[in-house]
Amino acid sequence: MHNLTISELIKGLQNKEFSSVELTQHFLERIRQINDQFNAVITVTAAQALKAAALADEQLAQGKAHPMCGIPLLHKDIFCTSDVRTSCGSKMLDNFVPPYNATVVENFEQAGAVMLGKTNMDEFAMGSSNETSFYGPVKNPWATDSVPGGSSGGSAAAIAARLAPGATATDTGGSIRQPAALCGISGLKPTYGRVSRWGMIAFASSLDQAGPMARTAEDCAILLNCMASFDEKDSTSVEKDVPDYSSSLRDSIKGLKIGIPKEYFSEGLHPGTQDAVRTALAQLESEGAELVDISLPNSSLSVPAYYVIAPAEASANLSRFDGVKYGYRCENPKDLQDLYCRTRSEGFGEEVQRRILIGTYCLSAGYYDAYYGKAQQVRQLIQQDFSEAFKSVDLIMGPTCPSPAFKFGAKGDDPVAMYLEDIYTIATNLAGLPGMSVPCGMVEGKPVGLQIIGNYFDESRILNAAHQFQQVTDWHTQAPEGL
Ligand code: GLN
Repeated sequence: MHNLTISELIKGLQNKEFSSVELTQHFLERIRQINDQFNAVITVTAAQALKAAALADEQLAQGKAHPMCGIPLLHKDIFCTSDVRTSCGSKMLDNFVPPYNATVVENFEQAGAVMLGKTNMDEFAMGSSNETSFYGPVKNPWATDSVPGGSSGGSAAAIAARLAPGATATDTGGSIRQPAALCGISGLKPTYGRVSRWGMIAFASSLDQAGPMARTAEDCAILLNCMASFDEKDSTSVEKDVPDYSSSLRDSIKGLKIGIPKEYFSEGLHPGTQDAVRTALAQLESEGAELVDISLPNSSLSVPAYYVIAPAEASANLSRFDGVKYGYRCENPKDLQDLYCRTRSEGFGEEVQRRILIGTYCLSAGYYDAYYGKAQQVRQLIQQDFSEAFKSVDLIMGPTCPSPAFKFGAKGDDPVAMYLEDIYTIATNLAGLPGMSVPCGMVEGKPVGLQIIGNYFDESRILNAAHQFQQVTDWHTQAPEGL
């Protein structure tokens, strides 16, 4: 059962080939048996899952259930889950049990989907390798000496290891697409504002966006149908109808204009990754798409701009973790200053502290204009590059990340090398655009991702191209050895 896609599981449930309780038991058993090898799931909600599955079976029997009814899922541990620990991968929130569900979690619960548990992640979603988690690193199911990517590495590894057919994730600078690429699965970061951020622990509020991960584009469409909604509780949620993302998957891609940015194929790109991506583009061309050379001239400024804006917003967002309101509190503080200081030094890991320091510095009175103001101007330029490009192309494609999964420790001591992991993904967050990664090849036994970027609210077109690509390739069906 764990090899079936969500779309196949929906049919299986409707045709009564198995019940949601059986399906849920199967995945829970699989998590129990093999999760230790990967450390992808950090909280298992077995009793709750079986109760939800039994309820789903009742709804299915009545014949008018939502397509997601009875489908088991994992949620990234950044989404608040009522009565279930929500740690955000941090010691700071190790003891935090929210009294409410994030809107994304609530949408799935209303549809009757079954939460199996919560997935591991980089602390406060800061990282590209899952090495910053308080709960220890996640291992890549394709090569357990290598990272799964981050920050949604737990969700990506869980899907690659068939511990769940789908999962939620979030992407502030690449955290859905990069781990999807490194773990050989599909993942979509929607347009900023398409999916509610309410109840999602904030990292950089103007960049954070939740999205689906699954093995296929078709499954991502099914998940996005449920995740996307207007939410008055999130002031940046966009009041716009949610189309049926499944309905346009089968459209022809003849005549589709695909922009290939020259900046995405420059120095620093692994030759194996480059070959795999070029082959994928040629396949799309033979399906009738037209490849157009384009330029996104300000691409190289995206990582520097991001590492001013994201830490600046993070330093403000994370000020709430002060040992008073919720989460970790240091032992026997001698006064208020000591409480703040020790709580935050003991509760936050090194990378989070680094970001808070950078962000506080960039926002300080004498430096605000020089750093934060400047970075916001650069953000405008990056956005204009994309607007210009989308005047002549329908989608933009290139690699998701510069190389396949690297070994543990390879970039841990060099933050700049780690930050460059997101060189091809960060610009879309700065511009607020949707982007997806789909598996498109293997290099040295590790998966490579093709990135597909669309115009605002053009998720349907991205999913259509990705689905059509998966009709003529089988990278998305491959499984790590023994899984
Ligand atoms: N890797 C990037 C960072 O460390 C992006 C993380 C994310 O998208 N959450 O900030």
